[in-house]
Amino acid sequence: MNTDHPAERLLMGPGPSPVPQRVLRALAAPTIGHLDPQYIAILDETCELLRQVFRTRNPLTFPVSGTGMAGMECVAVNLIEPGDEVIVCVNGVFGSRMQDLMQRCGATVHTVEAPWGKVIPHERIAAALEEHPAAKLVGIVHAETSTGAHQPLEGLGRLVHEHGALLVVDAVTSLGGHDVRVDDWEIDAIYSGAQKCLSCPPGLAPVSFGPRALERMERRRTKPQSWYLDASMLRKYYTGEGGRLYHHTAPVNMTYALREALKIILEEGLDARIARHAAAHQRLRAGLEELGIRYIPERSLHTLNCVAVPEGVDEAAIRRRLLEEYGIEIGAGLGQMAGKAWRIGLMGHGATTRNVDLLLTALRHCLA
Ligand SMILES: *Cc1c(COP(=O)(O)O)cnc(C)c1O
Repeated sequence: MNTDHPAERLLMGPGPSPVPQRVLRALAAPTIGHLDPQYIAILDETCELLRQVFRTRNPLTFPVSGTGMAGMECVAVNLIEPGDEVIVCVNGVFGSRMQDLMQRCGATVHTVEAPWGKVIPHERIAAALEEHPAAKLVGIVHAETSTGAHQPLEGLGRLVHEHGALLVVDAVTSLGGHDVRVDDWEIDAIYSGAQKCLSCPPGLAPVSFGPRALERMERRRTKPQSWYLDASMLRKYYTGEGGRLYHHTAPVNMTYALREALKIILEEGLDARIARHAAAHQRLRAGLEELGIRYIPERSLHTLNCVAVPEGVDEAAIRRRLLEEYGIEIGAGLGQMAGKAWRIGLMGHGATTRNVDLLLTALRHCLA
């Protein structure tokens, strides 16, 4: 295998997604110092663009250095103190990861579970809040990438706040592809990842903390167990409060790339972009159903299409052929769905009619 030049793939898996040339060119701009006034201005612009994409006015909105999991970890370590009770909704791999991570932060985690592919009804969350009145937060995955289920969030923030808890949302596979409204939906802390619907290379995790989350952090009795992800130190650098203090060397070129990716999103317009994802999903769904391929989740995401592998088909062999003969990557089933599902991403730059039709044609050939 030639490893000199990475191949040009059509990325239609669970991430990374296709990266536009404009973003790749931004990545190749000269590296400057992370305390250079010009870099600080670029970083400020990036955070402002992030606020627009998150639809929030939260001052503490910035890209965490690391992938989506670093975003999850940043939110958890800053909002949880050992001994806290929390509620986590689990209906797939990423909900389970949130449970695991919050347990590692010393929390007692109560779960609200649903079968894989189902979403979690808000009444079940209300019942859990009644049952565990000391719960400090509710964690939930908006776009469960392991099952393709699209979790409704509207109204949940109000419900959680009536019980004095915070709402923490994983928007890794929804931000930039589905509607995400941090302020309108009263989300207190949210994280995402650069390489899904934002169409940037992996390496940054946008996060945003609202006023209730800030208050919680200010009242902590203990320091977060992660030094690297401690928001009380990070905010001095990212927001400039109390001077731009060195904490760690910000990933300078990745910030250029993220800024460019966010500019592209806002040039298209969030609503137009969300509509494009919906249209691509509908076209894919119609084509797959014509091939006799069925969707698994009850309420499918547009950005991640989790479908059942037809009876008698070697799912790995089809994926291999798609990659080798057509240069198309799709994802395998994860966890319980390993061997039984394909996960087809229509994320960001990749959510187009052209890509949908290419994949359907290739898949038809491979299945024939
Ligand atoms: C991909 C993903 C993550 C983790 O992101 P990484 O960039 O792989 O660290 C977390 N949550 C969800 C829902 C995801 O799809």
